[in-house]
Amino acid sequence: MSGTTEFDLPFATPPDLDATMDIQIPALAWQPGPAGGYRRVLHLGGHPIVVTVRQCDGGLRVTASRPHAELPGLLRRMFPIQVADLDLGTNPVWAQLQARYGGVIVMWAPPFEALVITVLSQNRTGEIVRGVYPALDQLCGGLTPESLAALDRTVLRAAIRSAGPWKADRLGQLAALVAVEGLDRFDQRIMHGPPADALAYLDTLPGVAHKTAACVLVFSARTTTTMPVDVHLFRVADRLGLARHDGKLTPSVRDAVIAQLLTHGTDVALAHFVFLLVGRTTCTAGPPACTACFLHRGCRHASGLRPNEENKR
Ligand code: SF4
Repeated sequence: MSGTTEFDLPFATPPDLDATMDIQIPALAWQPGPAGGYRRVLHLGGHPIVVTVRQCDGGLRVTASRPHAELPGLLRRMFPIQVADLDLGTNPVWAQLQARYGGVIVMWAPPFEALVITVLSQNRTGEIVRGVYPALDQLCGGLTPESLAALDRTVLRAAIRSAGPWKADRLGQLAALVAVEGLDRFDQRIMHGPPADALAYLDTLPGVAHKTAACVLVFSARTTTTMPVDVHLFRVADRLGLARHDGKLTPSVRDAVIAQLLTHGTDVALAHFVFLLVGRTTCTAGPPACTACFLHRGCRHASGLRPNEENKR
């Protein structure tokens, strides 16, 4: 079959597609489209399909370069639920976050894709990963463990140069390990196995530590028992009073922060990225811009600031 096809993904809350595509790991496989929206290539039935998503009345409109029976189900899976739908408990700060970011869609990615993108994003910005991923996917003819493991290491190094050429070895090695196990077994282990076992397994792969493993579990398995902790979450959650710590991101303090956050609501792990959205705008690593922040009223840190401290910013 050939010719474009179009269908809608309805959402109860008007989607905020730009915020959705800002920082989530699965979003980094999508590029801003030349005519608006975001696009990527999916490989179904051995053929590349160019898919574009745009906001429309009532949800997202998907346009694809050719129809495929699996496409509507796959896109629904990739854009399953919004921040507005999550159980984030009763703390008023979460209510403020949910009100601001309710239209953000919590994205999903297949586990191996999420793993590769997360490794690429280690110590690199989302923009860099976004620039690298399409070429890598194309080189592989559709990213699979086998196709990535088979890539010439020099070619791979050149393809991911801006994301860190030294990652070529760890990507090649982890792809080979997953290929030996088989993608079905890998997917089963990550998406349907006990989260603690999946976390421990991912931790054994080259270049994978807790943050990367937790990213894969949150975005591919919708795990509710752990979450990635980066410097933004660590800083913003403490300032907001949602998870207190002594200022040093050690493994034990990280685990304590996760434990505190998980007490707030069942889906807090899925919403972890809202801290990054706040941390990249008003709640930056330097003096926070509290007077411009929508969280100003309920924020523990802001309520403790004296007026003359705010004037120094
Ligand atoms: S009010 Fe200030 S400290 Fe609190 S989250 Fe906003 S910027 Fe950060």
